[in-house]
Amino acid sequence: MDYDFAIIGYGPVGATAANIFASLGYEIIVIDQNKEIWDIPRAVHFDGQTQRIFQSMGIMDQIDKIIDPAKEVKFLDAKGKELIHIGGMDERYQLNGYAEDVFFNQPKFEKILRNSAKKYENIKLKLGYELINLEANDENNNLKIVNTKSEECFTAKYVLGCDGADSFIRKSLNIESHDFNCDQDWVVVDYLVDEKFSIEDRCRYQICDYKRPTTLLPITDNHVRWEFMIKPDDDISNMENESTIRNLMEPHLWRLNPLITKESGTLLRSSKYTFHGLLAKDFKYKNCFLIGDSAHQTPPFLGQGLCQGIKDAYNLAWKINGIDNNNYSKKILDTYTIERSEVVTFAIETAIKQQNIIASQSMIKSFIRDLFLRTAAFFPKLLSFLSFSYPWNYSNGIIDNNLYPNDVNGIIIPQPNLKLRSNDLPFDQYIGNEFAFLLFKGDHFFLEKIKSMPNIKIFNNNIFHVDKNHIFNEDTEFFNWHNDKKLTAVIIKPDKHVYGAITDSMKIENIEKLIDKLHNDLY
Ligand SMILES: Cc1cc2nc3c(=O)[nH]c(=O)nc-3n(C[C@H](O)[C@H](O)[C@H](O)COP(=O)(O)OP(=O)(O)OC[C@H]3O[C@@H](n4cnc5c(N)ncnc54)[C@H](O)[C@@H]3O)c2cc1C
Repeated sequence: MDYDFAIIGYGPVGATAANIFASLGYEIIVIDQNKEIWDIPRAVHFDGQTQRIFQSMGIMDQIDKIIDPAKEVKFLDAKGKELIHIGGMDERYQLNGYAEDVFFNQPKFEKILRNSAKKYENIKLKLGYELINLEANDENNNLKIVNTKSEECFTAKYVLGCDGADSFIRKSLNIESHDFNCDQDWVVVDYLVDEKFSIEDRCRYQICDYKRPTTLLPITDNHVRWEFMIKPDDDISNMENESTIRNLMEPHLWRLNPLITKESGTLLRSSKYTFHGLLAKDFKYKNCFLIGDSAHQTPPFLGQGLCQGIKDAYNLAWKINGIDNNNYSKKILDTYTIERSEVVTFAIETAIKQQNIIASQSMIKSFIRDLFLRTAAFFPKLLSFLSFSYPWNYSNGIIDNNLYPNDVNGIIIPQPNLKLRSNDLPFDQYIGNEFAFLLFKGDHFFLEKIKSMPNIKIFNNNIFHVDKNHIFNEDTEFFNWHNDKKLTAVIIKPDKHVYGAITDSMKIENIEKLIDKLHNDLY
């Protein structure tokens, strides 16, 4: 076998996967038909969980320099009157230790990933090569790549299809996709306002105008993202034209700064996209895996397509690494599809709900929507689907959902304030990237009893007594989380989701049963 991993596609998801798997010591070959980063931004938004993954990759300091946290978003009616205002987004509780909604420039992000990958001698880049053949096998996949001059064949134990929406890997593996039937045509515009103007209002707008549903997002610095819905009676050939776009922007520009006119900036691009909701029926065949857009596509209204691709890579990494190093059973690879498709389905369905709110084209339906939103502004529960803050829970896969069912199982554990450190490490690094056992109650003797259990070796010494004097409990949200739920102990998965919990019990045999269950699930 020539390589441990062949990563097909060096877009943002492939580059993330290359960094994560290289850090685990694997020999990797990365193939992309393009040599350079695609210099046009597509994704513009990250969530808190995605930044937590960057923290684990050691690149969050650099990411921090290219992001702008969202402060507020407004939904407006056709006359520009406010329907809903969601404010204080940068001040609210940060479940993951980071602002839940931040904006960024995709090419700058991809540069960080590619620079970070340079430190790994175990990554071999073959850029300018296209994959043209894949023969999938359980242990040894055969691949053929070509460029303008030659063709090469090689083998890899695992293949990661990070090759985007039109995935060659997905087609080669005959994996079909479920279609959520939400296709809509929009023009996506990136506009750079001239330097001499500052963008004074950094609010993000959803302009729910049935005559032209529009999204207006200041991203970072003077970069503004616009999305204009294409209507059935539009002349499509005209929709990407610069003059059409400048006219579409004109009525809204004053929101950024009253001095900005339609000639006050450079059009970086205007492209027509059909927004889809698609989900591969399986993310895996033999030792080949779909990651990112090859596995799923979502309308962009939640800013989750790339975020979910990054979470795919993170989910798969601990599983493959656990099989190779800790001898977990290969059956756990089936949970890659189970866990990821559950969360991605939620992301797609929630994005479609937002799309339906924003993109109504009927005057009557818009009138009813406006009435609903104006009423809902007084009853926040009705707006929960617009909260822009989702826990991305698992309810299946590697999780205890029958021994001690508990609503914390499957959720991500809050990360205490990043300034709080133990052994000079923030919480996530402190508990490490493998399974961790956290005990919130009891004393030293109780902990020692736990440490003497036969199956405790699963944790590779990742056992922590986070009692009330522990520094992480100075974060009141974190303390209240386990205290209010009366948690005695939790098992945390390498991706920081809760596997299982013991509530309100100091019975050592209960803890032992949960650890034994995890052992059975993994081996
Ligand atoms: C308008 C818009 C707005 C968006 N906004 C957001 C957002 O705010 N937040 C968010 O999280 N997501 C967003 N997304 C989604 C996000 O852009 C995508 O999910 C993400 O870019 C997908 O990355 P990827 O690496 O999976 O695929 P790609 O970026 O498509 O990369 C695939 C790579 O594979 C290579 N490749 C393909 N086939 C082969 C082959 N046979 N051989 C060799 N190489 C091959 C290609 O050259 C390419 O480099 C948005 C998307 C759009 C269109």
